[in-house]
Amino acid sequence: MTVTLLGATEIRRLAAELDVTPTKKLGQNFVVDANTVRKIVQAADVRAGERVVEIGPGLGSLTLAILEAAAAVTAVEIDHRLAARLARTAAERGAPDGALTVVDADALRITELPGDPTVLVANLPYNVSVPVLLHLLETFPRLQRGVVMVQAEVAERLAAEPGSKVYGAPSVKAAWYGPWQLRGTVSRQVFWPVPNVDSLLVGFHRDPEPRGGDDERRRTFEIVDAAFNQRRKMLRQALSGVFGGSAAASVVLDSAGVAPTARGEDLTVDDYHRVALAASERVG
Ligand code: SAM
Repeated sequence: MTVTLLGATEIRRLAAELDVTPTKKLGQNFVVDANTVRKIVQAADVRAGERVVEIGPGLGSLTLAILEAAAAVTAVEIDHRLAARLARTAAERGAPDGALTVVDADALRITELPGDPTVLVANLPYNVSVPVLLHLLETFPRLQRGVVMVQAEVAERLAAEPGSKVYGAPSVKAAWYGPWQLRGTVSRQVFWPVPNVDSLLVGFHRDPEPRGGDDERRRTFEIVDAAFNQRRKMLRQALSGVFGGSAAASVVLDSAGVAPTARGEDLTVDDYHRVALAASERVG
């Protein structure tokens, strides 16, 4: 069966039918260009028979491109009007029965995903893109890889290496799960409405073995947040609140093999993890 993608006119017609005026609050910038949605699906290397999770399917332009690649889709949409229409759009445009499961929910709160998807493909709502990514990676260990479109600055931050200007808490937290790479640019003109920011594709592959359990991750992230809250300060100062004084912070950092005079932006995710482990050994 052939799936037919949506064009710009059809997307506007669908929005009018549903009385949907795109809102900034929900990051509703719909892709109206078939080449762009195909490019995203290709960048994610989606293969026939795979189960993909898409966050924010909107009117369905990217969803149809994933279905065109003969993959199954679990689509999570917060806007009830859009969620309610999606299955009909897919059926009208030739998607096979059962290939699409729609979940009418807030992606930040989901704890279950029908079909156990292993791939994430999404044009994410920009205001919540990092929290959504971290929530999915934390909650769904079966998710192995993905490509998402996000605001250019966010993509650069997610893929940033230590020492770079844009390296921050989201870079370290994202790296906890595996490596990230920039995967291509997208013109503003492919969106309706045209956003006032640039977009980039960014992809990840989950490491085969988790770095550590939930407690270790939580403790590591707490230290990362403290380090970047005062990113200009040396770590012995920035972490003094977490470790009960700068002398205690220096001892923990020393025992983790990290210079107490380093700054948060100098450390890799493995360095942060070692600091968290050294701190818990010290406590008991
Ligand atoms: N995938 C569509 C496309 O490419 O045309 C729409 C992408 S649009 C940038 C983001 C979509 O995410 C919107 O449909 C919006 O309603 C939805 N959305 C916003 N916040 C959400 C949330 N917390 N959970 C699930 N969907 C959300």
